[in-house]
Amino acid sequence: MQTKILKIDSADAGKTDMQEAAALIRAGELVAFPTETVYGLGADALRPEASRKIYEAKGRPSDNPLIVHIAEFEDLVSIAREVPRQAKLLADAFWPGPLTMIVWKNDRVPYETTGGMETVAVRMPDHPVALRLIRESGCLVAAPSANISGRPSPTEAAHVARDMDGRIPMILDGGAVGIGIESTIIDLTEETPMILRPGYITQEMLTDVLGEEVRIDPGIIASNSEQKPKAPGMKYKHYAPKADLILVEGETGKVIETINRLAGERRAAGKKVGIIATDETMEHYDGADTVSIGARSDEDAIARHLYKLLREFDDRGADIIYSESFATPRIGQAIMNRLLKAAGHQIITV
Ligand code: AMP
Ligand code: MG
Repeated sequence: MQTKILKIDSADAGKTDMQEAAALIRAGELVAFPTETVYGLGADALRPEASRKIYEAKGRPSDNPLIVHIAEFEDLVSIAREVPRQAKLLADAFWPGPLTMIVWKNDRVPYETTGGMETVAVRMPDHPVALRLIRESGCLVAAPSANISGRPSPTEAAHVARDMDGRIPMILDGGAVGIGIESTIIDLTEETPMILRPGYITQEMLTDVLGEEVRIDPGIIASNSEQKPKAPGMKYKHYAPKADLILVEGETGKVIETINRLAGERRAAGKKVGIIATDETMEHYDGADTVSIGARSDEDAIARHLYKLLREFDDRGADIIYSESFATPRIGQAIMNRLLKAAGHQIITV
């Protein structure tokens, strides 16, 4: 299959002709598109055979449900068995935006889309190209991240092309995404709302809007928890680069010293070593393959660059990557959740 890449100026998305992409979605085909979090791989969410194609193209386990992308709050109402009282409050505060809500599904939503679950994940993306594609197609668009299962999520169209070329008919290229890590997922099907995946929207922001307790799924915090995470996707070794990734945390001077020592040992053993540093620490590392993820004070930049860096090290053929740790104040939990998973929880505390 030939993959067509269509460039769209996001600022002009409202005027750009997206008929061809919309028609593909209506025909039950796949279209990759930008959102504000990462690129999504979209299909008609209400057609079982369309959803099935997503799993096939990604090589995704079929028990890992998809997120349904919508353009109006009424679309959530139309696929939910009941609308939880918190949903409207959260939508008013954060939609369109990087928040996914889990609600009980009704019969319109096929089990192919929900990985066999009775609940469905719903989100209204804050991206003009995504919203236009949903509206123009007249469909609800099921979309997981547009990467091959197990690879870092794509934050640029080129990443999607790298993974999906020849597997899907179309990629909409709307440039680099703004946030760079996947949406926060909140489960509204139980008495107390629970965060199943941390993201740009934090526990504190959710609590503030709801005026009630919001819990975090214990399965996603503990490193070697017995407890299974409730979002099926969180149990997989996701977001993984090909190289072995090892995090080093602690006082900055000691972190630098440790990474330099370990990197030196590995290089001496003939390994190709990469280092993820920050603008502040960059110059203190020896060796060519050191890349800055951004300024430590700019956590949005750290989130935005993370997956791109992991992909770059793959392209350079790194065997081992050492990374500083980024437990930054606001979205540090979301960043560290992705990094820890990519590292298979290999972390050295100094
Ligand atoms: P992705 O879009 O690739 O980030 O994957 C979607 C994420 O949403 C995965 O981690 C899924 O496990 C999670 N998810 C989707 N639907 C549900 C659901 N009904 N219940 C819990 N988690 C879900
Ligand atoms: Mg994904």
